[in-house]
Amino acid sequence: MTLACIGIGVSRAIALGPAFLMKRHPIEVTPSWIKEHEVEAEIQRFRQALEAARQELQLVRTQIPSSTPPDIADFIDAHLLMLEDVTFTEAPLELIRNQLYRAEWALQVRRDAIVEVFESMDDPYLKTRKDDVNHVVIQIQKCLMRDGDEVHTSHEDITGHVIIAQDLSPADTILLRYRGVAAFVTEFGGPLSHTAILARSIGIPAVLGLRNATQYLQHGEMLVVDGEQGVVLASLDATILEAYHKRLGVYQIHKEGQRRLASKPSQSLDKVPIKLFANIELPEDIYQAIAYGAAGVGLYRTEFMYMNRGAVNPDEEEHLEAYLKVVRGLNGIPVTIRTLDLGADKQIINRDGLYYPPACNPALGLRAIRLCLKEPELFKPQIRAILRAAAYGPVRLMVPMLSNLNEIFAIRQIIEEAKQELHRDGLRFNADIPFGGMIEVPSAALCAYQFAKHLDFLSIGTNDLIQYTLAIDRVDEDVNYLFDPLHPAVLKLIRMTIVAGQRCNIPVTMCGEMAGEPRYTRILLGLGLRRFSMESNSILDVKEMICNSDISYLTRTIKSMRSHIAQGDTEVILEALNQSPIPP
Ligand code: PEP
Ligand code: MG
Repeated sequence: MTLACIGIGVSRAIALGPAFLMKRHPIEVTPSWIKEHEVEAEIQRFRQALEAARQELQLVRTQIPSSTPPDIADFIDAHLLMLEDVTFTEAPLELIRNQLYRAEWALQVRRDAIVEVFESMDDPYLKTRKDDVNHVVIQIQKCLMRDGDEVHTSHEDITGHVIIAQDLSPADTILLRYRGVAAFVTEFGGPLSHTAILARSIGIPAVLGLRNATQYLQHGEMLVVDGEQGVVLASLDATILEAYHKRLGVYQIHKEGQRRLASKPSQSLDKVPIKLFANIELPEDIYQAIAYGAAGVGLYRTEFMYMNRGAVNPDEEEHLEAYLKVVRGLNGIPVTIRTLDLGADKQIINRDGLYYPPACNPALGLRAIRLCLKEPELFKPQIRAILRAAAYGPVRLMVPMLSNLNEIFAIRQIIEEAKQELHRDGLRFNADIPFGGMIEVPSAALCAYQFAKHLDFLSIGTNDLIQYTLAIDRVDEDVNYLFDPLHPAVLKLIRMTIVAGQRCNIPVTMCGEMAGEPRYTRILLGLGLRRFSMESNSILDVKEMICNSDISYLTRTIKSMRSHIAQGDTEVILEALNQSPIPP
C-alpha cells in the first residue's frame, strides 16, 4: 500500500527517484571491550578509520566550488586540523591499550571528556565549539562503523536520487547542489530555511519538516517527491508509479516549453508591462538571472560577504570588487544593492566569539539599518563602495528594515558625507544614485506615503513584513503554520505600500518570497504590483502567469471581492483568480 508522508513543500517541482538516506545522528555507541590479543588489530582499525575520515573530508574540501563563501571551506579545514590533533590521534589509543576499550567506545569517552570541558566554559562561542568536536567524532565513528547501516555520500553516485536527511548544513546543500540530486527531504526546516531557499534557487523539489523521515523512508526505495503539495510517496504500487511517470513527463515538457518565455516580453494579455527581477546572494548568481531573462537584479543581499569569515569585515575595496563583478556582468541592466542586513536570522560570530549583533530578541533588536546607523564604521565602507560601483552602471542603493523617517534622514546624511569624502579622495562615484528603502516592518507600510516622499523607490520585503505583522518568527518551525501571506492585514499593508508609490510616482517592487510564488501573482497584479523580484528559478513560472493574465479583469475582481479579502476568505479569492484560462 502506498505510504503518503506530509511535510512542507518548498518548491513547485515534482521528482521521482530512489531514496538516498543520509543518516547522521545519533550514532549509538555503547560501552564495549576487546580481548587482550585484539589490541593491535583494534589500534590498526582505529588508525584506518582516522585516515578514511581524513580522506573523506579532503574530498569534500576539493568539491567545494570556488563561488562558495570562504568560511564553509575554513570550517572543513578546521575539522581536518582537528583530525591531526593528539586528542583524536593518540588519546583513544591509550584507552584501547590500557582499558581494552573498543575503538568506538574509546573515542566516545574522549569526546565526552572534551565536551564536558567546553560545556563548563562561560564563553558562548567556545561552548559552541563542542559541535565541531562532535562533527569530527561522528566522522571517525562513521568510518569505524562502515559496515553498519550508515550511508555515505562522499564517493557514491547520487545523481537522480532523493536525499533524505535529518537536516542539511549549508556545506552539505552546497555540495549536493552540484551532484545532480533529484530532490531533498528533511526532517527539519521551514519555507524560509536555507535548504528551502537553495532548493528553490536550483529548481528542485524539496519537502521539509517531514518528521521521522529518516525512519519511515528506506534507503534505495523508489519515492515520489511533490514539492508543490509537500508530499512524499513511498511503497509505490505500479499504478501510482506509472501515473507519476506520466506527470513527470508532462512537467518536463512544460518546463522545456517555458524556456522560450525567457526572451519574450513580460506583459499581460492586455499589454501591461510587468518587470521581473532576480534576487541574488553571490555575484555568480547573475548568470542564472540573465539566462532566465531577468530585467535586472531587484535584491542583491550582501550579508554573505560578512558571514562565515570570522572577525574581519570586508573593506571598501572588497565590496567594490564584488559589486563591479555584478555591474559588469549585468552589462547595462540595473542592480539594486541592499545594504547590510545582519541580525535576527542573519547573525555572525564576532572577534570576541560572541553572536553579533547581540540582542535578547534578535528580530526586534539591533538589526539591519539600526546596526549600521549605530556603527558607521561598519556602514560607511559599504556606502562608499556602492556609490563608487554606481559610476560603472545602473546601481540603486536600498536599505533594509526601515521603521521611521529619522532613519531615512540619518542615512541621507551618511550618504552625503560619503560623497564628500569620495570627492576629496578624488575617486569616481555617482552622486545621483537612486536611494530606496525596504518596507518590511508594519510601521513602514503604514507610513509608506511619508517614506515614499523621501525615497526614490520602495521594495516590499514580505518575509519580514509577514513575520512582524503576524508576530511569527520566520524561522520557528512551531509557528510556521501561521505564516500566511494572504492574511488580510498583510494584503492591506502591501496595498498601502503600492498606493503610496503610485501617489508619489516612484517604483514599488516586491522582493520577498511571495513575489516568486505564481499562486500569488494574480492577486498581486490585481492589487497593483507591477515589479517583482525573486529567485531566478521562479521567473519563468511567474512570467507564464503574467502572460496569461488580464490585469483589468484582475483589478475589477479584486475590487469586487474586497469584503472577502477583509474577512480572510483569500483562498476563495485565489481560486477565483487562478482559474485557467482566465474568464473573459
Ligand atoms: C524580506 O524580508 O522579504 C526580504 C526580502 O529580506 P530577507 O529575506 O533577506 O530578510
Ligand atoms: Mg527582510
